Amino acid sequence: MKASSYLIPTAKEDPQDAVVASHKLMMRAGLIRKSAAGLYSYLPMGLRVLRKIEGIVRKEMDKAGALEFQLPILTPSEIWKESGRWDKMGKEMFRLKDRHDNESCLGPTHEESFCVLVKPMVRSYKDLPINVYQIHTKFRDEIRPRFGVIRSREFTMKDAYSFHLDDESLDKTYQTMRKTYRRIFAGMGLSTIPVQADSGNMGGSASEEFMVVSPIGEETLTICPSCHYSGNIEKTPVIAKKNTTKQTFNGNGKLHTPAKKSITEVAEFLNTKEENLLKAVALVADGEYVLVFLEGDRELNENKLKNHLGCNELRPMGPAEMETLGLVPGFIGPGFPKSDSLKIYIDALLDWNFSYITGANEIDHHIAGIQLSAFFQGDGVTKIDLSQAKVGDPCPSCGTGLTAEKGIEVGHIFKLGQKYSKAFDITVLNDKGKATTTTMGCYGIGVNRCMATVIEQCNDDKGIFWPISIAPFTVCLVSIAKNPDDIAKIESIYHSLVKAGIEVLWDDRDLGPGFKFKDSELIGFPIRITLGKGFLEKNEITILNRKSMVEETLPFTTNEDLVTNIQKKILTLEEELEKQVSLAET
Ligand code: ATP
Ligand code: MG
Repeated sequence: MKASSYLIPTAKEDPQDAVVASHKLMMRAGLIRKSAAGLYSYLPMGLRVLRKIEGIVRKEMDKAGALEFQLPILTPSEIWKESGRWDKMGKEMFRLKDRHDNESCLGPTHEESFCVLVKPMVRSYKDLPINVYQIHTKFRDEIRPRFGVIRSREFTMKDAYSFHLDDESLDKTYQTMRKTYRRIFAGMGLSTIPVQADSGNMGGSASEEFMVVSPIGEETLTICPSCHYSGNIEKTPVIAKKNTTKQTFNGNGKLHTPAKKSITEVAEFLNTKEENLLKAVALVADGEYVLVFLEGDRELNENKLKNHLGCNELRPMGPAEMETLGLVPGFIGPGFPKSDSLKIYIDALLDWNFSYITGANEIDHHIAGIQLSAFFQGDGVTKIDLSQAKVGDPCPSCGTGLTAEKGIEVGHIFKLGQKYSKAFDITVLNDKGKATTTTMGCYGIGVNRCMATVIEQCNDDKGIFWPISIAPFTVCLVSIAKNPDDIAKIESIYHSLVKAGIEVLWDDRDLGPGFKFKDSELIGFPIRITLGKGFLEKNEITILNRKSMVEETLPFTTNEDLVTNIQKKILTLEEELEKQVSLAET
């Protein structure tokens, strides 16, 4: 490709609304343009990268035996009503009505559509397992679209759904997808950590997210430095540290704590540790009143509570609601008036018999020496794990202190079980001729988010350095020549490279060398060949490795020789990447 007939709308300045590196660089390198909030157009150079990522995903999914489909993006409301998600999905769903007043939505995901499609095609156990997928557009009306294409409102997802006769078969495909995902991400140069997204039960975890460690990540991962455990903090079980005894607060009875409402304020005021206090969190879960007690230095993990209650909406209880229940905001303690309309939950880390400092259920007062056993034990109140994991907590698998990182989720694999196969009544005849409900898995990858995440991992002060497998062009040939004879010589080299099947962008634009170098480094082609003064005067070519920025000068002999040289460099880069892919799979 000749740059003079291509489109390279690079920019020097960062766009004003971009805060993360990938967003800034995708805009500056002319890969995307913003159309509206959370909506982006891909320009030719950006589209080449996106297509290559799709290509890697497709190749690996096909290799794993999955079958590619393409379904309509517009989906009828009926199928969502059948699964019960028409109401559940809330505002994230783009809904619309056609001219006949029929309701539809722009699919945010396609479990329903695939279920309806696959159902009549699987009749016998012999038709299973089957893993179906598409690489297609999804719409989600995100509350906060941000970070460019990392969280947008229209994006490309690879979504796959597998159907099975039993759990054993589901697990087999799930494990294959797990490996496939690791190959896919490594294949595009991304290093990912699979984290448990569900506490899981016997027989392995039910859900894993593939995370890219990054300071801009919206998720927090807990990682064990000793064993292979890694989890999303949302789901990390919290286990009490062994052999630690807490020092009880030296004092008993009512304490005057004027205007000291927060745990930190009270602990400071009483000169004690936060863990000696009892934290009370009052919430409303789908309209029901809930009160959770935690150790003072712990935060409530709302996700754990939501899962335990099976509720959709969880919000803090308002002061008026507290008043009707006899709760004193900021000063709640176990002695509040008991009521059937308030459910009590006690975090597993709490000790029934430890003497805690708690709110005295009276403004400006706390009380020391309170034991939970005296109030709740035997009352049907049980302890459950509701607190958020912290750095240093014991690893749920081996007990070593956990560390934490921020992460971006690029993919998700999930054992769905029979939720959708039951809703859509997807049954097959088993080997004894008996109708059996199938079980399902689902597997998603955010294609655009992957592209941006690669840039988050592969950028420096000059711009992007693309992994060879997804670079818009492998080689950028920068020529600096004015004389027609020289240009003809360079053109013949360009043609030799093209003929050898190398993806080369020849920057033949009538611009200064500095400008061309900057553009090539900003866009990030893995290899740059410069044919300038050295070439014209001394028959020398320079080759730059964009990632290392190491430049070497070689004597030019023949076009063939140059092509061989470049092919070797490409092969080295490809082999390096392939090594990462093999490593990732294990
Ligand atoms: P998130 O927690 O980031 O909102 P999610 O759990 O909603 O993600 P899934 O429904 O599992 O995501 O979708 C599969 C994949 O699609 C995600 O792993 C992610 O890579 C991608 N994805 C999800 N939402 C977006 C979005 N708004 N913009 C770009 N990619 C997205
Ligand atoms: Mg989401």
